[in-house]
Amino acid sequence: MLFRGGEQLENAYKTTAVVFDKTGTVTYGAPEVTRVFSVTGSPDDIQDMFILSAAVERLSEHPVAGAVTRAAAYRYPSALPPCVDDFRSAAGQGVSGLVAGREVICGNRSMLSAAGVDLSPLEALPDVRDAAETEVCVAREGVLLGVMGVADRIKPEAPAAVEKLKKLGIEVWLLTGDNGRTAAAIGSQAGIELVMSEVPPEKKAEKIKELQAHGKRVCMVGDGINDAPALSAADTSIAMGGGTDVAIDASDVLLPGGNIDGVPLALYISRATMRVIKSNLLWALLYNIVCIPMAACGIINPSIASAAMSFSSIAVMMNSLRLKHMGEKKKLRSHAKKGEAAQV
Ligand code: ADP
Ligand code: MG
Repeated sequence: MLFRGGEQLENAYKTTAVVFDKTGTVTYGAPEVTRVFSVTGSPDDIQDMFILSAAVERLSEHPVAGAVTRAAAYRYPSALPPCVDDFRSAAGQGVSGLVAGREVICGNRSMLSAAGVDLSPLEALPDVRDAAETEVCVAREGVLLGVMGVADRIKPEAPAAVEKLKKLGIEVWLLTGDNGRTAAAIGSQAGIELVMSEVPPEKKAEKIKELQAHGKRVCMVGDGINDAPALSAADTSIAMGGGTDVAIDASDVLLPGGNIDGVPLALYISRATMRVIKSNLLWALLYNIVCIPMAACGIINPSIASAAMSFSSIAVMMNSLRLKHMGEKKKLRSHAKKGEAAQV
C-alpha cells in the first residue's frame, strides 16, 4: 500500500464514510456473459445479437464491452466482425452504432427506452438483474432483440473488508451506474446495505458532495473508470493498482494489487499514526514544560533537564517504533484467522 505523503496519511484518519465503486473495485471488473435470451427464442436472433453487439462493443473500453466481444468471438470464431459507422458511447449506459447501415444499440434499460425501444417483451424473459448480473439489452433498428446477463465476481476479501470498516465505526456505501437490483444484489454479497445505484459517471462526484454536505468525511475507493471525478471530490481517494493512470496519479493512497482489504488497513494505519503523533507531542511537551522551568528555578540541575530533553527524543522514537510492531501484530492476527502458518 502506498500513501502519497504525510499529509494524506494524516487526513485519512478523519474518514467517517467509505464509498466503494462497484465495477473493478468491489468486483474484479472482468465480467463474463453468462446468459442470453432472445425475444423470439430463435437461434438466429441469438447469433445476430452476439455479432451485432460485438461489432459495436469492440469500439468501447468498458469491462462489459470486453465480456460481450469475448463471448461472441468464442461462440462464433469464424464470423468476421462487420464494420461500424457513427459509433457512440453513452458513459454509464451503453453504446450504439450503424452496422451495415442499420442502427444497433447495446446498453441498459434507460438507454434503450430513451431511444424509443419498446421494452415490454423483457417481462416475458428471465430477469438477470436479480442474480447480481448486469443487464445488456440489444436492439436493432429500434426493435429489442434480446438481453444478455453479464456477471462479474465480487472480490473474495470484500465482505471481510466491509466488516472491518463497520467495526471502525465507518459507514460503508456502494456507488454504481448499474441498475438498482444488480447493485443491491452485489451489495448484499459484500455486506453493504447503503447503495447508490443508476448514478451516471458525471453525477458520482455530486453524490460524494451530498455526503460531505451531511457532515461526513468521505473516502472514495475506485479504479478510475467512470469514477475519476468522484475520486477527486472525496476527502481521501484510494485507487486500485490495475485502474486508470489518471486515478493512480490523482489518488492519496494506492492499493497496487487491488486488494480492498487494504482500505480498512490504510484507515487503521492512519488512525494509529495520528494517535502516536499526539502522544509524542504530549511526551515532548511534558519533558520540556516540567524540566526546563524547574531547571530555570534551580530546583533541578540543568544537566538533568538537558538529559531529560534528550530522553524525550528517545521516548518519541520508541513510541513511534510501536507502529511497526502494531503492523506486525495485525499481520500475525490476520494470518492466524485465515488458518495460515504465521511466518513473520
Ligand atoms: P459502475 O458504476 O458499476 O462502474 P458504469 O457507470 O461504468 O458502472 O456503467 C453503468 C452501467 O452502464 C453498466 O452496469 C451497464 O449496464 C451500462 N454500460 C456501460 N457501458 C456499457 C457498454 N459498453 N455496453 C453495455 N452496457 C454498458
Ligand atoms: Mg467503475
